[in-house]
Amino acid sequence: MARAALFLDRDGTIIADAHYPSHPDQVVLIDGAASAIARANLARVPVVVVTNQSGISRGHITVSQYESVRNRVDALLAEHDAHVDASYHCPHWPDRDGPCACRKPGIGMHTDAAHALQLSLTASVYIGDRWRDVQPALTTGGLGILVPGEETHFDDITRAKGLNTPRVRVIDTIGDAVDAGLAWIHAARGSAQ
Ligand SMILES: [Zn+2]
Repeated sequence: MARAALFLDRDGTIIADAHYPSHPDQVVLIDGAASAIARANLARVPVVVVTNQSGISRGHITVSQYESVRNRVDALLAEHDAHVDASYHCPHWPDRDGPCACRKPGIGMHTDAAHALQLSLTASVYIGDRWRDVQPALTTGGLGILVPGEETHFDDITRAKGLNTPRVRVIDTIGDAVDAGLAWIHAARGSAQ
């Protein structure tokens, strides 16, 4: 049976947004992110990171620099007994590469993960600090949670709050957002039985 997952944005959601981070030393976990991921791990809900990395196409960072930053994120999470089950990135930059299926708000990364990990996108939760992180919830029928941070545009908050749908919420911290997502998944499982 396909499983529900937590899809998490990286920059500005799990780690502080360093604008095209190229070195592991730039990685700083956002307060509460690691412990929240650990709670998802304990609940056996897959955690999938989906991140737009146009800095690769723009020439700001190389793929190996991206990998070194990703490895550092994984290492810091491990210090908190937390892990992500899979990590996907979109290296494209629309101005140069044209449209692609993977760049959020597209759901190409999500569908790749769904095939690889046997996930139900409709049953999953989409968390991030930008509207484009949350919009996949409307595409898939899942739950979207905007967690406003330093880089969040006011328009994104207005949009999320103005939708008047239970499919999109605005929650102040990543810890509370993950807990709300886990509770939503748990309740959906209960009602499906
Ligand atoms: Zn892409």
